[in-house]
Amino acid sequence: MAKAIGEILINIERCKGCELCILACPESTLALSKTINHKGYQYVVKVNDNCTGCGNCAIICPDAVITVYRKILKVPKPEMSNS
Ligand code: SF4
Ligand code: SF4
Repeated sequence: MAKAIGEILINIERCKGCELCILACPESTLALSKTINHKGYQYVVKVNDNCTGCGNCAIICPDAVITVYRKILKVPKPEMSNS
């Protein structure tokens, strides 16, 4: 069995706070910040550590703000018992 773990990098100064990525994330990993960037927009931040690296947020973002890294962890099979 394998488990996917994702990590994202957000270039907050390029974000315009359109929220498309928040709506596209199936894991509710993203939210808008309480502060603003130098352009005056609230920007996207990660609020949970449950990202699977699905890539939806990066694909839908019109400004290429988010980079997604995905790692596949192999979960070892449980050993068979001889009893
Ligand atoms: S890669 Fe997928 S799970 Fe991770 S933040 Fe983006 S949309 Fe959500
Ligand atoms: S889709 Fe892109 S520009 Fe829009 S809020 Fe998300 S990161 Fe920011």
